[in-house]
Amino acid sequence: MSEIQKNPEYPTELEYRRFLDHGFVALIDVMGDDASIVQAARVSYGKGTKTMRSDKALISYLMRHAHTTPFEMVEFKFLMRMPVFIARQVIRHRTASVNEYSARYSEVPDRFWVPALGAIAEQDNVNRQGRLDKLRDLARRLPAHASGATCKYHDGAVAVLVARDGTGICGHALSDVDARSDFVSHWRGDDEAKAWLPTEEYAYWVEELLEHFPAEKEKLANVQARIREANESAYALYRQLLEDGVARELARGVLPLTMYTEWYWKIDLHNLFHFLRLRMDAHAQYEVRALAEAMAGFVAPRVPAAWEAFYNDRAQGTFLSKAEREVLRPLDAAAQTEVLRGLHERGYRSRRLKEVCRKLGMEENMVDELWPPK
Ligand SMILES: Cc1cc2nc3c(=O)[nH]c(=O)nc-3n(C[C@H](O)[C@H](O)[C@H](O)COP(=O)(O)OP(=O)(O)OC[C@H]3O[C@@H](n4cnc5c(N)ncnc54)[C@H](O)[C@@H]3O)c2cc1C
Repeated sequence: MSEIQKNPEYPTELEYRRFLDHGFVALIDVMGDDASIVQAARVSYGKGTKTMRSDKALISYLMRHAHTTPFEMVEFKFLMRMPVFIARQVIRHRTASVNEYSARYSEVPDRFWVPALGAIAEQDNVNRQGRLDKLRDLARRLPAHASGATCKYHDGAVAVLVARDGTGICGHALSDVDARSDFVSHWRGDDEAKAWLPTEEYAYWVEELLEHFPAEKEKLANVQARIREANESAYALYRQLLEDGVARELARGVLPLTMYTEWYWKIDLHNLFHFLRLRMDAHAQYEVRALAEAMAGFVAPRVPAAWEAFYNDRAQGTFLSKAEREVLRPLDAAAQTEVLRGLHERGYRSRRLKEVCRKLGMEENMVDELWPPK
């Protein structure tokens, strides 16, 4: 997640998380916390919730069963600055209340997005909406690492990146989110693996690998320079038009989508999670992922139980179709027991294990047989 910083342009003591070249998210206000979710749920379920062992278990239950209204009791208000092409994606989330900087009242400052070198990539042929996974692409083409280190995640594979502690990762594992995430912790020297690969760290790694491809690096630097030039020439025209007395609401028409805009954005936690699930996903655009991660950095510590439930059960979870369920259901008793034991080792207890049985069409009483109720 991005680091918290103070923003010298604003005279307040707000906490800012920066992303891209000029973007930031600042937390303005929060109403409620995990306790507000529990309070609301206990009103609707009354005595039924007393059987829940803890507030955390209740929040996890609500998340898993799409009992969403208690999450609406918590609200977050952010101030954020992002390029207009990203603002267009964020504004599609109609459940937020927004107030935007007006380029009719005020002159637009000279602030435009130029991509980091490691964020520039060719059109992807498979994902027609997105760009090529440059990290994966370069890693595959990179000659084996001189150190001869092997990959921690794929037996026998040669590492293309090696962390200071000697942990290696191969090109294939770089496309695996869990392996990448674990590798980040070795790369940074942290004790604990980060929950996800921070988007902008990806660009940094690409830049590291580009050192092995000087011609390609030069080509990307040229793209970057041309984007900067286009920004500068559009802004020069904008200034000229203002000097000629043209109204601000007309002159702004020559400004590109790379222009930064700012707004206040207020949303309840249920819809914020919906936003984060979509925009932190690997299929979302790099630049909006960076924004979503900056927001998540504020959300996770303020509603830790709700965050954990959201992250594990929704963001990292998935739905199965009827056909998928039928094919994936473990067939014999031994395989079913193995599934239940595996989940038990991961902290699943009776109530949740029975939910899994229902999901996969297995007998619920298996759970009581394996772990008899006290
Ligand atoms: C990877 C990705 C690619 C995308 N590509 C495109 C694209 O190519 N073109 C494009 O136009 N959009 C695109 N979108 C935008 C997408 O279709 C949604 O508009 C956007 O994600 C907002 O989602 P939402 O409507 O669920 O969110 P919100 O507007 O926050 O709404 C949350 C929920 O409230 C309910 N809701 C809100 N308003 C209404 C309403 N008026 N009527 C009924 N229910 C409502 C719905 O259940 C909705 O899911 C893309 C989004 C993603 C994440």
